[in-house]
Amino acid sequence: MAWGGGWGGGGGGMFGSSQSTGLPFGGIPSELQAEANKVLATEPAREKSSLTFHQRPSAKERLALTLPRMLRAYPGWVAGGSLLVIATSLLLQAGPLLTEFAINRGLTLGHRSLAVVYVCGSLYLVLAIVNALLQRVQIDVTGKLASRVMHDLRIRVFTHFQRLSLDFFTEEKAGVLMSRMTSDVENLQQLVQDGISSFAAQGLTMIVITVILFWTNVVLATWTVLLVVPLMFVFTLWFHHASEKGYLLSRDRIANVLADLSESLYGIRVVTANNRQRRNIKNHRHVVGAYRDANLYTGRVNAIYGPATNMIGIFGSALLLGIGGNMVLDHKLSIGALVAFFLYLNRFFSPIQLLVQQYNSLQQGRSSVIRLRELLQTPPSIDESSDAPTLPTIEGRITFEDVSFGYSPDNLVLRDVNLEIAPGESVAFVGPTGAGKSTMAKLANRFYDPTTGRVLLDGIDIRTVSLQSLRSQLGVVPQEAFLFAGSIRTNLSFGRSGLTTKEIEEAIDVVGLRDLIDRLPQGLDTVIHERGQTLSAGERQLLALARAFLARPRVLILDEATSSLDLQSETVIEAALDRLLEGRSAILIAHRLTTAQRADRIVVIDEGAIVEVGTPHELLSHNGAYASMYQAWLASGGRDATRS
Ligand code: ADP
Repeated sequence: MAWGGGWGGGGGGMFGSSQSTGLPFGGIPSELQAEANKVLATEPAREKSSLTFHQRPSAKERLALTLPRMLRAYPGWVAGGSLLVIATSLLLQAGPLLTEFAINRGLTLGHRSLAVVYVCGSLYLVLAIVNALLQRVQIDVTGKLASRVMHDLRIRVFTHFQRLSLDFFTEEKAGVLMSRMTSDVENLQQLVQDGISSFAAQGLTMIVITVILFWTNVVLATWTVLLVVPLMFVFTLWFHHASEKGYLLSRDRIANVLADLSESLYGIRVVTANNRQRRNIKNHRHVVGAYRDANLYTGRVNAIYGPATNMIGIFGSALLLGIGGNMVLDHKLSIGALVAFFLYLNRFFSPIQLLVQQYNSLQQGRSSVIRLRELLQTPPSIDESSDAPTLPTIEGRITFEDVSFGYSPDNLVLRDVNLEIAPGESVAFVGPTGAGKSTMAKLANRFYDPTTGRVLLDGIDIRTVSLQSLRSQLGVVPQEAFLFAGSIRTNLSFGRSGLTTKEIEEAIDVVGLRDLIDRLPQGLDTVIHERGQTLSAGERQLLALARAFLARPRVLILDEATSSLDLQSETVIEAALDRLLEGRSAILIAHRLTTAQRADRIVVIDEGAIVEVGTPHELLSHNGAYASMYQAWLASGGRDATRS
């Protein structure tokens, strides 16, 4: 974040209000010091951020995203978590063995000993307590591991977003990108936190119990494995298939519900104005109904699987009780061993049920990893080579050399454009909507690369230099000024760090916003909400101009606001523009011909080609496209000629 002046005033700071009076920050008053210390004591200590951003990802960042790679960053936590999972899974299995010992050695004829029962009981209790404590530590460890891994992942995805090019954000829906950061990351968090450890614990439990079952009694264990397990297996396969279908169905349908909801909310004005409420409700009832049906289906599948596997378990137990009972009567099995067998049998079934039920979350986590991996492997279409040199400080000569360009290769938007803009010259692009004016500007800023031809700055192909050095010398003022949440000061300091308050104040004066700043309760430190919706369109535009003024670019690219600015704002903005353009090369996408008239030269663009170039005076006397556009503009009262 770029902080403001010498006395370090950022917006919205705890003690920031003293700055709005224009006095330097004089320290915390002594009577408040104790309170301040208390607040500071509760603040978590944060490491100093030593963050650097490089357009080229590091070798480590280029590796494909996989769960093991994410976990490998924390070997200690993974080892600790795994050991704890193993320990808790094993410890729990001692219970039935103790029960067997207590029955055989303490409760059967000839072996009556209350002491044995007490010792076994106490040991069981101690093991249960130790197990609970270990489980607590294990949950804590896996929780912390998951938080760390997800923190890294969020930063990695966000950093990748910063590297990607404009075309990516134009093609991908913002909602979809958001869901990568929300639901996909959360699915993974769930997986790392609970899923993997519980899967490992259940799997391990099943293996341990199978071994114990065979160790306790081979005959009973064989019956179990041959009869009950196959039945359970077949049924589980069915459930897996059915629940996956249900999961996919409900996922698709909730997406429809959300899409319908967001469309209705965004378009609520149009809905109300066109009396579409009834139709909308009908529509929504339809998508919500489909979602309900998908949920009902999942509910039915669960309702069948849970009780049915229980029944299989009970039938299996009944059968084994018959066989085992006979074995006890024939003295082939001790009664303690039979009881232990049954206790283990119950524990054998529950992991199967749990594993299957958690399969969905495993599936979700897996597909989230795949989606995030794909996202992270999307290369930016505008990139720099690893050894791209820095663009030296330029004078500001912009050259379009035989430039052709299409957003899709088979549909050219610009054809063979040749244009040279001299250092310090301001050139206005005019022409009908869709002619290719903004596209030209986007090529100059290297938001896109030409399909053929070159764009040069001071004779240097802009594709060969580092993006950071290129953009630091180009200022862009978009049509819709974008203000970030934060104070006016931080918004203005966006393009250049280390600005002094004096410099910011000067910029405010240059763009004529002094009145606004004086009116605001905290002056420059007033926090802007909701992308500046509390400011007028004209004020937002002026702030964007002030931001560009402070960034002091060598070349300015300005997409003039078309929104209905009142006449007074227009005059103020024009005066601000004059100051901003002083000594700079500039491309102005002029929507109003008053702006075009003030430029050094005018370029008329139509259907992707330059049709006329000249000074305003030349073009007017030439009686060509610009002259007729100008006449039409005069006739229409002088507004928005290029929009016609
Ligand atoms: P202007 O600024 O002159 O109004 P643009 O340069 O924005 O026109 O657009 C030129 C053409 O390119 C238009 O036909 C427009 O529909 C198309 N276009 C603009 N942006 C994109 C995009 N991101 N993807 C595909 N086509 C686009």
